[in-house]
Amino acid sequence: MAAAKYIFVTGGVTSSLGKGIISASLGKLLQARGFKVTIQKFDPYINIDPGTLNPYEHGECYVTDDGAETDLDLGHYERFLNTPTSQANNVTTGRIYNNVITKERKGEYLGKTVQVVPHITDEIKRNVFQLGESGDFDFVITEIGGCVGDIESLPFIEAVRQVKWDVGANNFLVIHLTLIPYLSAAKELKTKPTQHSVKQLLEAGIQPDILVCRSEMRLPQEIRKKLALFCNVHINSVIEALDAETIYDVPLLMKKEKLAERVLAKLKIPNKTEPNLDQWKDFLGNLKNPTDEVKIGLIGKYVELPDAYKSIAEAFIHAGSVNECKVNLQWISSESINEENCQSVLEKLDGILVAPGFGERGVEGKIQAVKYARENQVPFFGICLGMQCAVIEFARNVLKLKEATSTEMNPDTKHPVIDLMEEQKKIVDLGGTMRLGAYPCNLKKSSKVYSVYGKKTISERHRHRYEFNNKYLERIEKAGLKATGINPDTKLVEVVELEDHPWFIGSQFHPELKSTVLNPHPLFVKFVEAALNSKKSNTKN
Ligand code: GLN
Repeated sequence: MAAAKYIFVTGGVTSSLGKGIISASLGKLLQARGFKVTIQKFDPYINIDPGTLNPYEHGECYVTDDGAETDLDLGHYERFLNTPTSQANNVTTGRIYNNVITKERKGEYLGKTVQVVPHITDEIKRNVFQLGESGDFDFVITEIGGCVGDIESLPFIEAVRQVKWDVGANNFLVIHLTLIPYLSAAKELKTKPTQHSVKQLLEAGIQPDILVCRSEMRLPQEIRKKLALFCNVHINSVIEALDAETIYDVPLLMKKEKLAERVLAKLKIPNKTEPNLDQWKDFLGNLKNPTDEVKIGLIGKYVELPDAYKSIAEAFIHAGSVNECKVNLQWISSESINEENCQSVLEKLDGILVAPGFGERGVEGKIQAVKYARENQVPFFGICLGMQCAVIEFARNVLKLKEATSTEMNPDTKHPVIDLMEEQKKIVDLGGTMRLGAYPCNLKKSSKVYSVYGKKTISERHRHRYEFNNKYLERIEKAGLKATGINPDTKLVEVVELEDHPWFIGSQFHPELKSTVLNPHPLFVKFVEAALNSKKSNTKN
């Protein structure tokens, strides 16, 4: 295919209908036919990126290889398509305005009045075309965050309208994701909210080509007809999207509804091949037919909002499928754990994961959970702050450095076993200034983590400010907590693991960000395996 085709996904009626999953599923169906696809998300908020947002506001902040802090939908894109995304795949209103204002200050608008149309819309389109014109993709799918009709998303919708004229109708398509509510009192599915949201799109000059209709009930033919009639689309372009048992069912549900066929037909692309979804189906087969189950505790402070740990939860789904085992994740608030109740809260678990996080709240509970895992030989996995807690716990309870902590928790501690690097000390701005993105790491040959990866050099993604303090390295290693993954350039400790323990690994990086359906992350796969083994040996005893 020569030029890229542009597909826009808008949302109507309510948010949270799953535009990200629909976009990723369509991407998968096109990719499974041999096309090269990328998915981009526009977020209409003013923050430059979600990096400074509290996880309660916006869920997990997903980090790409190039160090962009992005929306969690990019995680779905990567998990479904198994291809990396980058900063170009997530653009906010804040970034658009920032770029335009920076240009204006440089005098690049040559004395013109800078306006929403055309300057902001041009900048939005530049971000779309930058992907399409790279030559790397047959399809650019752009998801517009929020709902049509929101004040904030107006410039994006206007830019979408203009793209049609820039690239021509045969290279352009709009999918509108909407909700068909069921009124149980009337025993009826209602189309009116969809009619209104399509009307809003029409007012903005956009006729959707395909309607994807979220619904709890099957859409009967007469409802499809009504939607087609009132929303001005072909009846075959009314696609039903039922609530699914797992998000990983959605590509197959969309295949049944012929979403990709409709897209190809509308874009006048011959549909030559059947999609190859064999591996996907194998994954789903294992996922849905587990032969065993493990209970893994996720010890974190944002557990009321599971989206805050989205990639970790998904990585466990991938790892469970590989092990043909259901991973029963127990979300445990680290604030609820203390020395007295630790045993009773944690004893039923086959594995303990101490989650990433920021700030002091809940840290002592995390440290207690590490201690319990270490002393009771429970498989343990610490990620980022979770790894830092493992170092603190070891320093306090094995090296007997009672005041050991991270300078994030106490800047004046006598034993800063986790500390800021010199270059971090000078930083005042919070946005985009952590150690972010992919860094190489060398694994020690005889270590457990080496056997997990099966190779010496790995690359994993980071998002943190504080680091293992190498001043304590010798003492900590001597006592049995080994630094088995080291950054070759900076000598920073990226992995620690305990000798004389069935499975105790902490990683400064976030392996969950690279786990996909086709490439489940080995650390999660082996951790689940270790939890299974621990369960089996406990039942024997
Ligand atoms: N708060 C810690 C740091 O900044 C850990 C960050 C994390 O867990 N992502 O170093």
